[in-house]
Parts: sequence; structure tokens; C-alpha cells
Amino acid sequence: MSHAPAPVFRFAPSPTGLIHVGNARTALLNALLARRGGGTFILRFDDTDAARSRTEFADAISADLAWLGIPPDRVEHQSARLPLYAAAAERLKAAGRLYPAYETEAELDLKRGLQRARGLPPVYDRAALALTAEDRARLEAEGRAPHWRFKLDQRVVTWVDGVRGPQQVDTTSLSDPVLVRADGTYLYTLPSVVDDLDMGVTDVVRGEDHVTNTAVQIELIAALGGVAPRFAHHNLLTLPNGEGLSKRLGHLSLTALRAAGQEPLAVAALSVLVGTSEAVVPVESLQALAEKIDLARISRAPARFDPDDLPALTARTLHHMPFAAAEPRLVAAGVTGGEAFWSAIRGNLETFADAAPWWAVCSAALTPAIDPADTAFLASVAEVLPPEPWDASTYKAWIAQAKTVGGRSGKALFHPIRLALTGRENGPELANLLPLMGRARVLARLNGASA
Ligand code: GLU
Repeated sequence: MSHAPAPVFRFAPSPTGLIHVGNARTALLNALLARRGGGTFILRFDDTDAARSRTEFADAISADLAWLGIPPDRVEHQSARLPLYAAAAERLKAAGRLYPAYETEAELDLKRGLQRARGLPPVYDRAALALTAEDRARLEAEGRAPHWRFKLDQRVVTWVDGVRGPQQVDTTSLSDPVLVRADGTYLYTLPSVVDDLDMGVTDVVRGEDHVTNTAVQIELIAALGGVAPRFAHHNLLTLPNGEGLSKRLGHLSLTALRAAGQEPLAVAALSVLVGTSEAVVPVESLQALAEKIDLARISRAPARFDPDDLPALTARTLHHMPFAAAEPRLVAAGVTGGEAFWSAIRGNLETFADAAPWWAVCSAALTPAIDPADTAFLASVAEVLPPEPWDASTYKAWIAQAKTVGGRSGKALFHPIRLALTGRENGPELANLLPLMGRARVLARLNGASA
């Protein structure tokens, strides 16, 4: 019997800004599919661009993934792996697949302009391949340092994309890509391929802006003697006006959504499910969200992400949140009311931060502001408070009596009681709050005393 090897997925952000919900979509798809398949989720920082990469962004990305609930199983930094890329570049040179070119940007621009004027696609003409050793020596004597291009096979590259189905790209239509700049730094392609091979990545799930790169990468993998991973390119998220999300512009950063009190599970559900044939619904856990992922059901069209949908989804996520999920966060917030408290209040939360004030209502002193017109009424209903122990049925029994002794019904009955007991106009069912407050506190508050 043969077993498929455990899958290895990776999320490979450049730490050049705060990540946004579109990046979260990529990270979550990779992390949750890895988890579902019993595999590994690698966080790989594509930080070879030393000028733009910053440690604080890498730290923020790690914190964002932890907040989403998908801490990586392994973390790698490309900046620490440069010798591997150098070795791969040498192998490609030895195999005649990486060649030096000396054109300046201005010269390349000029070539492209001429090609366009003749109605030709602006593909690099491989002039550098014709250079002799003497030509190169002369150019270098002029002070030109070469950049290095990968010699494409110029063939039709095919793969079956997990989202988009069978794909083909004719690499004749592409310029030989520059892998190494004149200053010796690497563009994204070579380090990415070297790492995917070295780390045994089996599945690459990323945005569809990388579809064309994939053909180049498949050729490069073959040139390095490796086996291509499975590729899946998901649609990109846009703002409601169709504008693409930008890390640079700070659109919908996870850090900002977190500061605004949005629930990580709501952000996760929205960023994974929007633009698929699944409805965007609150989920109970990341595992439940993982079960809903089907790459083949991701739409090919861009997915509009409306940030205004998030507060409602956050609220609904809280309304369904099991106590076990809430408990550590309640404890961290000093809320010790246990499951009875959570069940009583979760349906009234807009953000998690609303929980602690409700706990204060149940357990800390509150001075009721009682309308003088209600003083006698509240004192009379206080007289008929049942003896303890109290449970969820206490309130109903008490109200039945309160109606009679107080001579009121409807709003005139309920509103002053709620206001005296909680200090608020609205809130969770009093039937559930009463046992949490206890008789002494309720009695005092009905009589206008601070308790
Ligand atoms: N650093 C690349 C990016 O953020 C990674 C792309 C990939 O997943 O290969 O777009």
C-alpha cells in the first residue's frame, strides 16, 4: 500500500509592510490545507530585498498569523540562505541555463520601444547570448557588471492548477527572466524555487498574479533537477470599488482589524469564503473552516471584500462562540463568571471587549440611578424577591409576583427593573443575569443602594 507523503505548504510574504486580508486568504488556505492533510505549514520570509524588508514587519506578520490561529510549524528567512541560491546559480551557469547580459535599463527600454513599433511583442532578444568572451571582457572593462538571465526552453509548459484547472503557457512569449541583478542580489524567482525544492514543498497556493511566474518556475525546477509541486492560484481580493488591495497602501491590515476588535475567526471566515461558491457564514473553529475549503470552488473572478461586512460577522461569531474558546480570553480579561456568564452575555456582544463591562455589571458595585417615580414600585417588587438558591427560572417566578404587587405590566414593569439592576437600557436576558448577581446585590440595587 502506498501513502501520499505528508504535504508541505508555505506562506511566503515579503516583510515589506503589514499584511492585509488578501494575504490572510493566502496564508489561511495554505495553513488550513496543511493542517487538514496532516502536513507542515512553513512561514518563509522572502526578505532578500534588504532595502525594503524590515524586522518589524516580519514580527507583525508572525503576530498576525498567531492572532489568526495559524502559527507556522517552521519559520525560514531567505536572507539567511543566500549560499544556497549562489550554489544553484552556479549549477545553472555550468549547465548553460544562466547567462550574463549587460544591457542597461535604458537600452532595454529602447529595444522594447523598437519591437513595439514593429508590432512585435517586447520580448528580450537574447542578444547577450551572442556575446563572445572578448565582448564580455570589453563590456566589463567599461565598468558594466552583468545581470544574469535564465535561458527559457521556449516550450509550452502545462500544469493542472488546483483552482484554475489545466493551464498552459508558451514560454516563447516570455523574456528570459533576470534571476540575479548586477549587484549580485536575487530577484524573487530563484530563491523561491530553490527553497520550495530544498524544503520539500508539495503545494504552492498563492494569488493569481503569479500564474505567469509558474511557467518560468516549472522550467527552472526542471533545470535544477527537481520535481514541481502542485500549484493553485486563487483569485485576488479587491475593495468594494474594485480597487486591488495593497500592502504598501496599508489596506485592511490585519493589525488594524485586530485593533478595531474584529474577531480573528470572522476575519478568517470572510477572507477564505468570499469569492467562492460557499456562503460567507460564521464558523465555530478554524477546523470547521478548513472543512469548507475546496480549491476547485474558488471563483476565477476577483472577489470583492467589503470591510463593512466584518462587524456583523464578528458579532455573529461571538454569538455562537463555545465557552471553551472564550474561556482563556475571559480569564485574561479578569472575567471569572464561567460558562453561565458567557452563555448569558455572548448573544449581546458586538466585540469581545464588551464582555468585561457586563461582568462588572454582575460583580462590581453599581449605583443605580432611579427615577423618583419608580422608587416605590421598585421597593415593592424587592419585597417579593424569592429566597436563594437562584437559577434561570427564578426571574420568571419573581416577575409573576412583581406584576401583582407592583401593579404594572409591559415596559412600565420591565424597564425600571432593568435600569436599576444593570444601569443600562438594554442587554442580556435578566433571567440569566439574576443568578450571577445574587440576591443581596439585586435587593440593594432595587432599593437604590450602591451594590
Ligand atoms: N514573496 C512572494 C509574494 O509575496 C511569494 C509568492 C509565492 O508564493 O511564491 O508574492
